[in-house]
Amino acid sequence: MMKSVELQMIRRVMGRLEYDGDLLGQLTDYCIKNDICLGRIEAIGAVKKARIGFYDQEQRVYEYINLDQPLEILALKGNISLKDGKPFVHAHITLGDADGRAFGGHLAEGTIVFAGEFIIDVMDGPALERAPDDQTGLALWK
Ligand code: ZN
Repeated sequence: MMKSVELQMIRRVMGRLEYDGDLLGQLTDYCIKNDICLGRIEAIGAVKKARIGFYDQEQRVYEYINLDQPLEILALKGNISLKDGKPFVHAHITLGDADGRAFGGHLAEGTIVFAGEFIIDVMDGPALERAPDDQTGLALWK
């Protein structure tokens, strides 16, 4: 059965990503430093290289794809909740190359920013905490 919580948006922040920083690391650090535990996140920009994951549902492991080339961030969408008591960013990304081809997956550490702009909608409401889920092998909301 589907479960949900009702949230209220309390503020929106917009910012610029740092050149040469890790995309997921920067977003996570920003949430930790600013005590953002619940929200939605989006970003556009460009990366020098990317590392994206695909979850193998049979093997229950992430397989990673390394894209060692400059790419546009066509879209990054994700959410912020708690994992092990700390803000955790779960984001998926669509990237485009020089020929307009698109790649995408679960955003992983190792994606290096060239330039980027993000928006975070900070929410208030019951905490969403990730915990191991037996059915999928993933850390899902309890
Ligand atoms: Zn994911």
